[in-house]
Amino acid sequence: MPDTVSKNLSLQGIGASPGIAIGKAYLLEQEDIDVIEKRIIPPEEIGSEVNRFKEAVKKAQEDLRKIIEDVPDEYRDHIYILDTHMMLLTDRMIYDGTIEHIRGKNLNAERALKMAVDQVQAIFKKMPDPYFRERGSDVVHASKLILEHLLGTGPSKLPDIDKRVIIVAHDLSPAETTQIQLEKVRAFVTDLGGQTSHTGIIARSFEIPAVLGLGDATRQIQTDDLIIVDGNAGIVIVDPDEQTLTRHHERKGLFEQFQARVTRTSHLPAETKDGHRLTVAANIELLEEVVSVMDHGADGIGLYRTEFLYLNQPTLPSEQELFDNYRDLADIMGDGQVTIRTLDIGGDKFASGVSLAGEMNPALGLRAIRFCLQSPDIFRTQLRAILRAAHFGNIRILFPMISQVEEIIEAKRMLAEAAESLAKEGLFFREDIQIGAMIEVPSAVIMADILAKEVDFFSIGTNDLIQYSLAIDRINKHVAGLYQPLHPAVLRMIHRVVENAKAAGIEVDLCGEMAADPVNLPVLLGLELDAISMNPISIPAIKSLVRTLDFEESKGFVQEVFKQATASKVLQLVQETYGKSFEMATFFQAGGA
Ligand code: PEP
Ligand code: MG
Repeated sequence: MPDTVSKNLSLQGIGASPGIAIGKAYLLEQEDIDVIEKRIIPPEEIGSEVNRFKEAVKKAQEDLRKIIEDVPDEYRDHIYILDTHMMLLTDRMIYDGTIEHIRGKNLNAERALKMAVDQVQAIFKKMPDPYFRERGSDVVHASKLILEHLLGTGPSKLPDIDKRVIIVAHDLSPAETTQIQLEKVRAFVTDLGGQTSHTGIIARSFEIPAVLGLGDATRQIQTDDLIIVDGNAGIVIVDPDEQTLTRHHERKGLFEQFQARVTRTSHLPAETKDGHRLTVAANIELLEEVVSVMDHGADGIGLYRTEFLYLNQPTLPSEQELFDNYRDLADIMGDGQVTIRTLDIGGDKFASGVSLAGEMNPALGLRAIRFCLQSPDIFRTQLRAILRAAHFGNIRILFPMISQVEEIIEAKRMLAEAAESLAKEGLFFREDIQIGAMIEVPSAVIMADILAKEVDFFSIGTNDLIQYSLAIDRINKHVAGLYQPLHPAVLRMIHRVVENAKAAGIEVDLCGEMAADPVNLPVLLGLELDAISMNPISIPAIKSLVRTLDFEESKGFVQEVFKQATASKVLQLVQETYGKSFEMATFFQAGGA
C-alpha cells in the first residue's frame, strides 16, 4: 500500500561530510539581504554616506572581535576563518570598491557594498578549482556583517537550541557556525556550499554528517520535519515513510558499526595478507586538518595543498609566515612524512596580492608550476620557506602540473639557488630534500622515463590526469558521468608511470581522490603503487580493506583488468572478483542507498 501521509521527498545535494543522521529539522531563519534598495545620494550627502559606511565597518569589526573572543574551545582550531573575515572587512576590493561606488555612482552605501561584493564574487565564480570558487562565499559572509549595520538590523544572533537537531540553513557563515553548540547538531543541511565550504570543512573535522549545496532545501524543509541526512550519498529525505525510515536506521547502524570497527584498527599498518605494505597517507589543505590526519591513522601527509595561505589575505604571505606554517605541520607530524606541494594556483585564482589577466581556459592556462616559474619572487619565497622547514622535519617537496622536463629542471635550479642564498645568510635548511614531480598531464606520463631521472619520486594526480586525458572538465556537472577513474586509458597511464618509476628506482605514489574509493583499491594495489593518499576520513576504511587483500593476487587481477575495453567492464570485473569482501565499504559510497 503506498503511504499517502508521508512526503518521502528525496533531495540530492553534495555529500560534504559522511555519516547518516535521522532527526528533527531546525530551520535557521535568515534574513534575505539579497535584495537591496537602490538610492541616489545627492552630492552634498556623499561625504556622510561614506562615513556611514566606514562606521558600519567599524561596528562589524567590533562584532567580529567579540565573536572571536567568545569562540568556544572546540572551535579554536577554526578561528583562522574568522581572522580571514576580519581582514576581508577592510579588503581593498570591498572597502575601497564600496567607497568608489558611493562617490562615483552616487549610490547608497548598501547598494554600493552589494555591487563591490558582486564584482569580487564574479571573479571567484570563474575559478576552476572548487575550493577557490567556494571562497567567494567568505566575501559574502564578511560583507553581511557590514550590511547588517547599514540596514540597522544589527548582528544576527542564532537562537539557543535546546535539543539535538539537524540544522537546515540557506548558508552558514563561519561567524554563525561558531555560535552553534556542536553537541546539539546531528547534521548540517544547506542550500549553498559544497565539499570545500567552511561548513563542509568544520563538519568533516567534527565528523558531523553534512549534505550541502541542495539549492532550495530551506523551501522544502520546515522546523520539526523529520528528515534523514545521508552524508555518504549526498541525499536528504524529508518526511520519510516507515519503510524508508527503517532502511536508513539499519544503514545508519551498519555505517556506525563499520566506521567504529575500521577506526579501531586504523593505526595498524596497511599490510596485505601476504605481507606487502602499502603506505596510506592523507591529503590536506589546512594545517588544522592535521588533527583529523592523526585521528584517522594516516601514514604521513601525501599531499599538502599550500594554496590557502596565498588566497585568504590581501597581501602575499611572507617567508616567515610560510616557514612557521610548514614547520608547525612537520613538528606535529613528528617522524611522519610531509609532502609539501608548491603553489598550484594562477590565472584568476588570486583574490588579491597579485593581478593577472583573465584566461579563456584557466585549466590549460598559467597555473601551478607554469605560474611559479613566471613569478620567481613568489616561488623563491615558498622554496626558501620549505627548505628551512625541512631542516626541522621529515618534509619533501612536490612540483605540480609538470608537462615538460624543462620545467622540473628549472624548478630544481631555482631550488638550488634558494638553498645557496640560505647558506649565504647562515640560515638552517635541508640540503638533501627529496624532490617529486606530480604526474597529472598526459605528456608527463609519456615522458615519465625522462622525468624519472630528474626526481626522487612521482605522485600521480589522477584528479587532473583524468580531466586532461579524457578531456573531461573535472568540475563540469554535465560531463560528470564521463569522469571515470577506472577508464582503461587512465589505468594504462598509471601502469606506465609505475613501470618507469620502478625502472628508475624511484618511489611512485598516487594522490588523486580515486584512492579513497574502495572499488578502486584492488586495482591500485595490483598496479604496485608505493603509496596512496586521500582525504583523512576515508583512511580507516581503506587501510582495513588493504588488510583483506592479497598483493600477488591483485597483480594477477590487474592483468585481467588490462584485457577490458571499458570502465564499466573493469568495474564489473572488480565487483565479480571482490564484491563480497567489499560489500560493506562500497555500500556507503555515494549512490549506495
Ligand atoms: C590531482 O590533480 O589529482 C591532485 C591531487 O591535485 P589537485 O586535486 O589539487 O589538483
Ligand atoms: Mg592536480
